Amino acid sequence: MNPWQNAQQMLKQVGEKAKIDPKLIDILLTHDRKIEVELPLIMDDGSTKTFKAYRLQHNNWRGPYKGGLRYHSQVSEDEVKALSMWMTIKNAVIDVPFGGGKGGIAVDPKTLSKPEIERLTRAFTRELAEFIGPDKDVPAPDVNTTGEIMGWIADEYGDNAVVTGKTLADGGSQGRTEATGYGGVYALLGVLEHMKLEPAGLTAAIQGFGNVGTYAADLMIKNGIKVVALSDSKNTIYSESGFTDILALVDAKAETGSLAKAVEKLNIECEIKSVNDVFNIQVDILAPAALEMVITKDNADSIDAKIILELANGPMTPEAEKILIAKNTTIIPDVLANSGGVAVSYYEWYQNRHKENWTKEEALNKLEGQMKAAVADVLAISSESQLTLREAAYVLALKRLAAAKPV
Ligand code: NAD
Repeated sequence: MNPWQNAQQMLKQVGEKAKIDPKLIDILLTHDRKIEVELPLIMDDGSTKTFKAYRLQHNNWRGPYKGGLRYHSQVSEDEVKALSMWMTIKNAVIDVPFGGGKGGIAVDPKTLSKPEIERLTRAFTRELAEFIGPDKDVPAPDVNTTGEIMGWIADEYGDNAVVTGKTLADGGSQGRTEATGYGGVYALLGVLEHMKLEPAGLTAAIQGFGNVGTYAADLMIKNGIKVVALSDSKNTIYSESGFTDILALVDAKAETGSLAKAVEKLNIECEIKSVNDVFNIQVDILAPAALEMVITKDNADSIDAKIILELANGPMTPEAEKILIAKNTTIIPDVLANSGGVAVSYYEWYQNRHKENWTKEEALNKLEGQMKAAVADVLAISSESQLTLREAAYVLALKRLAAAKPV
C-alpha cells in the first residue's frame, strides 16, 4: 500500500463509520489540480540533470491551498496526493482559513550544492508562478526545505506573502520554527489532562531528529517528560535517565552529521542502537516525527507505548492502527498533532498582510490556545460518538468542509 492508497482507505473508512455523505467523500477523494513538471538544472560542473516536481492542489473551499514543499528522493505523485488531502483535513481541524495542497521535488538535496538547490527552487517557482499566490496557494517548508528556501521562492515570485515558514529577516513569524513540535506537545498535554495523567515522569521516544522532532523533545523535557530515545536516519540513541539538552544535541548533530557522533562529541553516556529500535522501547509516549508509513502491521505488535503522538504525516498504516487500537493505545492523529505548523503559518500570512509583527510569546500563546481548542473539539466528538481520536478529527474536519462547500 502506498501513502495515497493509505489516505483514501482512511477517508473512506471514517466516512462509512461516521455516516458522512458519500458524495462529500467522493469529492475529497479527487484533487482540484495536478501540476507536474520536469525541472532541468545546470549543475555546478556544467552538466545538466532533470528532476521531477509536483504541486497538488486538493481543495480550496475554506481558503487558498496551503501545504509544504518537500525535497526528498522518495517524492512521488501518490505521496504528494496523500499529503495534500491530509492538509485539507488538517487545516479544517485546526480551523485556519486555508484549503489543502502539497508539493515536492524528487531530489536528494544532500547531493546538491547550495547554489544548485537555489537554482532548482527558483526554476520550480517560475513553473508554479501562475498557480500560486497569497490568495491562491501558499507553500511552506516540509522535509528538507527551510526558511531560506522559502525566501528564494518569495524573492523569485515577488511577494513575501506567497510562502510561509520564511526566516524572520524575510518576514517569517516568531514561533514558526518551534510551531509543529511545540504544537504537538500542546496537543499531547491536552490529551494527558483528559486522561488524568501528569506529564512529569512519563517517558517518551521520538523517531526523527529534524525540525519537528527536536522541538517536540525540547518542550516535552520542559514539561518534565523523560525523553529516553531519539533517532535519526542512521541510529537510535537510548538513555534510561533521559536526554536533557536537546538544543546542544541539535548543534552537535549539525556539526558531526549524526546523533551517534553528536553524543560522542558531547560525552553523553547512552546506548547506540539500530535505526528501527526506537519502535521497540517501552515508553509512555512514542512520537514518530520522520516520514510516513513507518508503523506497519510488521512492527505494530512490538510497539509498547500508551500513547502515539503522530508528529509526522501519515506515519501509520490502517492495519497497524487496528493492531494498536486492540492494544488500547491512544493515537493522537497527525491531522491534529502536527497542525501547529500550519497554525503559525496562518499567523505569518496574517501578519504579512496586515503589516504586523507579533512577539514569540504572543504567537506561541495563541498556538497553545488554538491547539487546546482543537483537542477539546476532537475529544468531545470522540466521547459523544464513541470514535477514535482520528475518526473524531476527520468528522470535525468533514463537518467544517461540508459547511464551506460551494452550492
Ligand atoms: P526534517 O527534514 O527537519 O527532519 C526529518 C528527520 O527525519 C531528519 O532528522 C532525518 O534524519 C529523520 N529521518 C529520516 N529517515 C529516518 C528514519 N528512517 N528513521 C529515523 N529518522 C529518520 O523534517 P521535519 O520538518 O521535521 O518533518 C518531519 C515530519 O513532520 C514529516 O512527516 C513532515 O511532513 C511532518 N510535518 C512537518 C511540519 C513542519 O512544520 N516542518 C509540519 C507538519 C508536519
